[in-house]
Amino acid sequence: MKKALYYKKLDNNKVQCELCPQMCVIPEGKTGICFGRRNIGGELFAENYGQTISISMDPIEKKPLYHFYPGRDILSIGPNGCNLRCKFCQNYHISQQISPTQKITPEELLQYCKQTNSIGVAYTYTEPIIWYEFIYDSARLLHENGKVAVLVTNGSINEEPLREILPLIDAMNIDLKAFTDEFYKKYCSGNLKTVKNTIKISASQTHIEITDLIIPDLNDSTKEIQNLVDFIANIDNEIPLHFSRYFPAYKLNKPPTPASTLRNAYEIAKKKLKYVYVGNINLTNTSDTFCPNCGERLIKRGGFYSEVINIDEQNRCKKCHHKIKGVHLFA
Ligand code: SF4
Repeated sequence: MKKALYYKKLDNNKVQCELCPQMCVIPEGKTGICFGRRNIGGELFAENYGQTISISMDPIEKKPLYHFYPGRDILSIGPNGCNLRCKFCQNYHISQQISPTQKITPEELLQYCKQTNSIGVAYTYTEPIIWYEFIYDSARLLHENGKVAVLVTNGSINEEPLREILPLIDAMNIDLKAFTDEFYKKYCSGNLKTVKNTIKISASQTHIEITDLIIPDLNDSTKEIQNLVDFIANIDNEIPLHFSRYFPAYKLNKPPTPASTLRNAYEIAKKKLKYVYVGNINLTNTSDTFCPNCGERLIKRGGFYSEVINIDEQNRCKKCHHKIKGVHLFA
């Protein structure tokens, strides 16, 4: 347990957490909606500090990150809980309810990293933003030892803490769950504006990729996909975008997303973005990386396996020497 950053004291021993846009007002003895931060005696503590629900090696492609050390495994951990309430959560048993955790210190995490020869650590599985203090301490230690830190996040964090932690983050996959505020409110108990802000700020400071889970009838209209793609293209048309196929989970039991819907989204996005992928389904030519200049196949993928075939050590296409967006793309 550690004293939390970003909160203020209120009357009657209450506190207000200012880490994420939920801005929870927390009475003494209680936690915020993410379960991770508790008011003890009128002070806010990160009760979840170093408490992880899982620790394992995953392919970096599973995050998904396709333009960051392709083909490498990364040590992956995450806290119990989340600051959103997505009705379609694919990990609800560890994000939406209290689950058993095990304790790990930043020093032990670094040790695991070295033992497993991992490139670094991915903070993932649930919502790492609610683990702010632990990430801050451990990512700094990782950096001091030549390792990387990756966030897989819903992007719902206030601007000040985001700016403070970004220098310690080497790559992010940010969920953009839809492109209407109505969806964020009704299905996630969140807001779109914050996530857009996180994407804009993060894109200027670290490597980011974006994931959009497409759910039939809820966020799959051509107009909404066009708006989402325009937003990304206006920031940087080289940001990789991953469309992901939805399967029924938690409180949502709509049928899985049809392949034709995902193909339509892919074709819309390819008109404006250089790197577009479709995941959770096998759709021809939507998981490999192609050179946006000459069309050469650069990275082959199947499932979470990937093979770099045509990128040189300066991250350039071997055929036409076009610079490919990403970090350490060569084999
Ligand atoms: S981080 Fe947790 S406690 Fe803080 S405002 Fe967000 S949901 Fe509430």
